[in-house]
Amino acid sequence: MSDFDIASYVSRIEANRSVKDGLMRGLKTRQPPYRISVTDLLNIKQAYFRRKYPEIVPPLEKQQLMWAGTGFHKTFGSAVSSEEYLEQFVEAEGIVGKIDIYEKIPVEVKTTSMPLDTKDLLQYRPTYIEQLGMYCAMVNAHEGEIIIYQRPGDESSSTSPLVVYHVSFPDLEAIRKEMGRRRDLLVQALIANDPSNLPACPWFTKQCDYAHVCDCATTAVPASHEIADLAGEIYVDSMTCQQLLNKMAKSQPSQLFGINDIVFPRKAYFERLKLQEATAVEEVREEKEEYLRSMDERGFFDVLRDSLYFGAPGEAQKIPVKHASLSDLVRTWQNLPTILRDPKLSSLVERERLPLMFPHYFLRLGFDCALTQNTKGRLLLYYVRVLKEDAKLMVYDVNFRNLNGIKAEALRRLELLEKATSHLELPKCPSWMCPYCDYKLECGEA
Ligand code: SF4
Ligand code: SF4
Repeated sequence: MSDFDIASYVSRIEANRSVKDGLMRGLKTRQPPYRISVTDLLNIKQAYFRRKYPEIVPPLEKQQLMWAGTGFHKTFGSAVSSEEYLEQFVEAEGIVGKIDIYEKIPVEVKTTSMPLDTKDLLQYRPTYIEQLGMYCAMVNAHEGEIIIYQRPGDESSSTSPLVVYHVSFPDLEAIRKEMGRRRDLLVQALIANDPSNLPACPWFTKQCDYAHVCDCATTAVPASHEIADLAGEIYVDSMTCQQLLNKMAKSQPSQLFGINDIVFPRKAYFERLKLQEATAVEEVREEKEEYLRSMDERGFFDVLRDSLYFGAPGEAQKIPVKHASLSDLVRTWQNLPTILRDPKLSSLVERERLPLMFPHYFLRLGFDCALTQNTKGRLLLYYVRVLKEDAKLMVYDVNFRNLNGIKAEALRRLELLEKATSHLELPKCPSWMCPYCDYKLECGEA
């Protein structure tokens, strides 16, 4: 990856059995039989088939678009808000969701290729209102905002790339009731193995991955959007829109880096280049739902991550770190910097070989530790492909030596990234990443 050898900074790795057992116990008792998300409740028919046919996965091309979409959301979110308000996890009545930005009121961010105008949102995007309505009900907020960003196209350069809709929801209780109804409908269908009572999805009728297994052609409970119909006033909020545009304009020259950018500086270099090009956003599609879907599908891993990040009060914290253009939050759990990863191997790696096999995990954890002055961090590995249930999760306590040396490497990479005029000046990413990387041609690693 680079001349810097993180393995030589690792002084001890211990498997922590009691933490592992505690986590497993907690998860087994906490996990509901079916984990239902807000996005499931937008399209319950599709949520059914997703569960029943986990082998149907979106084609690679679509997945790449999802990643592009997540990049945009992150960049947009950081431009207009700050890390502690982005991607907020919420849970109520056995339903989970993630709010894009939640400072005072829930804000959902969407991207589109269609020219924006201020037409009737209820008519042309009822699911946006449904999703926001559910988030509002979950956090007991009577209003929220939907930001729609149009990626640059040929004809629309003179119009604003953003529209902000302010939506009020006077009857949150009715929304909660409808959410419960949809949740129960989905769970009952899953238990009975019978989707015929589920309404057809209100969107995404073409190119659905489940079209060939779905029964919507023969059994038709029509699509409806009761939650969107419960919305009160919907108006275009030009003032907020202007404020956001100002924030976006201001944030561009001083874009900040995150810790992951210094773990994979080459990739960060290309990503930044791409974002600076006007055409960059062209790859962003309306794939937010898809992205959330891929997260939901991660099942147990996802629950594990949520319990680490949002678990018992006081256990999970986010410590801000700031050095020059580096600005991020280090996640700690039980007071130790903690990262969770899901290696795709079908057998466990012995602990002595871990830093050689996964140098990027140790770089990340080492940087997290060095930037927060902790000699010890925790690495959780969840091996999805290992068959034996009890062996899937491993918890390691990792001790680092010479924190100053690790911190110096973090800051060296940051400086390289800030000044780089060519990717060749930056350490390479691990070679297994290259075949899947969008930049492999420019990078010369194809
Ligand atoms: S085929 Fe249509 S109704 Fe069936 S899951 Fe796909 S979008 Fe939903
Ligand atoms: S091709 Fe490989 S080295 Fe280059 S940016 Fe992509 S992952 Fe990193």
